[in-house]
Amino acid sequence: MTERSLNENVAPLEDMATKKAAVKENIEEIRKNIAAANTDGREISIVAATKNVPAELINYACDECGITEIGENRVQELLAKYPLLTKNIKLHFIGQLQTNKVKYIVDKVSLIQSLDSERLAKEIERCCAKIGKTMDVLVELNVGNEAQKGGVGSNEIESFFDSLDKYEHIRPIGIMTIAPRCEDIDEYRTFFEETYRIFIDICAKKLHNIDKPVLSMGMSSNYAEAVSAGSNMVRPGTAIFGIRKY
Ligand SMILES: *Cc1c(COP(=O)(O)O)cnc(C)c1O
Repeated sequence: MTERSLNENVAPLEDMATKKAAVKENIEEIRKNIAAANTDGREISIVAATKNVPAELINYACDECGITEIGENRVQELLAKYPLLTKNIKLHFIGQLQTNKVKYIVDKVSLIQSLDSERLAKEIERCCAKIGKTMDVLVELNVGNEAQKGGVGSNEIESFFDSLDKYEHIRPIGIMTIAPRCEDIDEYRTFFEETYRIFIDICAKKLHNIDKPVLSMGMSSNYAEAVSAGSNMVRPGTAIFGIRKY
């Protein structure tokens, strides 16, 4: 799918009824595109990225369109929406997580996708031990090794997984990545294929006890290519809810 076809799919969203109709259509479109890309029929999770999306629209996507997992980026926003969200939703944290905010979310999320430092791991362990919970986490891979971005570099990822072995309340179940901004879809494909190779290597070395290891990769403009390359969890935001107003 190209950027152009994406923008054509996303209706300008005026009122709530129009927005809901668009969300329903967008989700159906995404399911079709995923099915077409998923040539070996793997199980693919759609995690709706819900930053700047009001709870009413999130609940519609969940209650009426079959979305079961959502990803929030900011702790403050997550806490504000949390009491308003439909109860059978699985909440993931997908944004950069500050150590001092971990305590506010450990009881609310089922997966932290953005674990990328030992400090953060230590704090997740401390907070989860306190409430007797084992937290599923994904290690965020900085596949482009970009200096300004979060995530563990591809050369350090194995030793980072090793460093998590000592924590009783953290269960690493896979890898998440945000591809660098690319000029074209082939460039994305290259990053996705590289990430998939790293994922397979980590699966063999560190995740053999995990039932279904997770590779979370692919956003609105490239989820189909990510699925073709081996992703089993995609995180579309705009492609579901329309262009975000900041
Ligand atoms: C915002 C965001 C997304 C969704 O981005 P879109 O381009 O709107 O699909 C996915 N993952 C993360 C980590 C995000 O911050």
